[in-house]
Amino acid sequence: MRKKASLELQELGALASIIPSHEPELKVSIRTIPAAQDALSRSMIPVCEPMLCGREREYVLDCIDSNWISSQGKYIWKFEEAFSRCCGAKYGVACANGTVALHLALATLGIGAGDEVIIPTFTMIATANAVSYTGAKPVLVDAESETYNLDISQIEAKITPRTRAIMPVHTYGHPVDMDPILELARRHSLYVVEDAAEAHGAEVRGARIGGIGDATCFSFYANKIITTGEGGMITTNSEEIARLAANVRDHAFSEERHFWHQYMGFNYRMTNLQAAVGLAQTERFDELVEIRRRNAALYSAQLRPIPGIVTPKELPWAKNVFWMYSILVENDFGISRDELQRRLAERGIETRTFFIPMHLQPIYYEAYRGQRYPVSEELCRKGMYLPSAATLTPEQIAFVAESVAACRG
Ligand SMILES: *Cc1c(COP(=O)(O)O)cnc(C)c1O
Repeated sequence: MRKKASLELQELGALASIIPSHEPELKVSIRTIPAAQDALSRSMIPVCEPMLCGREREYVLDCIDSNWISSQGKYIWKFEEAFSRCCGAKYGVACANGTVALHLALATLGIGAGDEVIIPTFTMIATANAVSYTGAKPVLVDAESETYNLDISQIEAKITPRTRAIMPVHTYGHPVDMDPILELARRHSLYVVEDAAEAHGAEVRGARIGGIGDATCFSFYANKIITTGEGGMITTNSEEIARLAANVRDHAFSEERHFWHQYMGFNYRMTNLQAAVGLAQTERFDELVEIRRRNAALYSAQLRPIPGIVTPKELPWAKNVFWMYSILVENDFGISRDELQRRLAERGIETRTFFIPMHLQPIYYEAYRGQRYPVSEELCRKGMYLPSAATLTPEQIAFVAESVAACRG
């Protein structure tokens, strides 16, 4: 049987207090409310949900009517082409989910045992796990406190002769400043593999995320800005990377002979059904991104005046797509983040706490024992995100903002 990594919270000492307990239960069950249709209902506001109001149904039915439901079929290449174009990249390689997109990118670049990949400790578990799946070691850097992205000034000190890649994560939709990352990578001959699971449509000085690093990995999970239910894609401007990734995604069948394998491949294929949803979503790419930005502007206008609430930033060179509308609850708010979360749940408002950093995860704790990343730890203690779906109405946003203000201690 697989062994469970155990980490007693007492072992963390003073840090134990920053680890959130399970999310509070909402007063209303999600299943009873079709939230998208029931826009004005205040009985339950989910933290996120998809918005499928384009040609999704038509395209999925076309797959079924035409009998093309596996990973062959026109929607795959149409989706790859349309989505990569939206991201300013020449090539797209669709795959089963965002996590395997990350793993596939690293495997395609030949990263494996004995190698090191630099990632932020403040991220979702898939970033670190994708590195671990290859046999390489994730090397951590702290977050910076304005964008919650990795602190670029700390990267160089972590580069060793084993380092092969830097893996920035565009956290909650705010892009990482890619210029200094590309410069560091050039100087040390490293690959840049971006985790853009949360950043569809984000821009750095007018350049879209997706066409900047060697390979950029997107997720299309149901809560992401563009969704296929489950799905992912690598975008790249390198024909070589695209061609090899597409082959390794599909068991690495060789061109010479079928059932002949010269690379270790995987089955990381996406189905035509998923791609059908993805193409319909991508046709509304700009609209889905702009809704997130408009909703964020509405939230910020109402939340910024509340003492003790820190609203998310957009640095002058960046286009933040506000995948999740994130706030920090400071001490002068009067009640803790956990208490605010509980009080909002009582009003039917679903929220999520920020990531728990990688160095405090039971599965990674031993590997980084004794290392401290104070900014990430503080974000873990103070951060949460509010309902962020594209389906939110201005009335629901106002209700959430009023509720935050009313909960103040
Ligand atoms: C969602 C997400 C992933 C994983 O994507 P899946 O499609 O769920 O596998 C990876 N990294 C980050 C930062 C994410 O938010």
